[in-house]
Amino acid sequence: MLAKLKYMLSSLMLVELLKGMKLTGRYFFSRKITVQFPEERTPISPRFRGLHALRRYPNGEERCIACKLCEAVCPAMAITIESEQRDDGTRRTTRYDIDLTKCIFCGMCEESCPVDSIVETRVFDYHGEQRGDLLYTKEMLLAVGDQYESQIAADRAQDAKFR
Ligand code: SF4
Ligand code: SF4
Repeated sequence: MLAKLKYMLSSLMLVELLKGMKLTGRYFFSRKITVQFPEERTPISPRFRGLHALRRYPNGEERCIACKLCEAVCPAMAITIESEQRDDGTRRTTRYDIDLTKCIFCGMCEESCPVDSIVETRVFDYHGEQRGDLLYTKEMLLAVGDQYESQIAADRAQDAKFR
């Protein structure tokens, strides 16, 4: 009976509403933490696992030696590689696809790569409008690598300090 009376009294005096107004007022005058994405961005770790990229050496030669370790280790079986031997005796991929609809961004492909070829970048704001748009081919992955090479190299150097 007493609890019911208390409840009715607090309802009449709009206690819950006043509590809510108090909370709103507190955040209204405190420092704003909303980030105006995409103009503003929060800090990202150099180990962030975003969109994949295939890297080249400074002379333009692709790093990948088609060892297929990344394909073997990928738990989602998202990587498909075909390769052939070039005239100079080196082996290179003729096909390197990553199906990003299967990928779970575990990072095992980049961990397994002996030549730092396949890496995951800080890029997370990409999308596909059809499922096929997220099947990244070798050319697309190399283009991502070319575009973000300076950031990738800086992140790898920073990461190496902590290993
Ligand atoms: S991040 Fe993981 S799941 Fe994605 S391609 Fe690499 S190994 Fe496969
Ligand atoms: S990306 Fe690295 S691990 Fe994968 S096939 Fe090429 S060299 Fe081997």
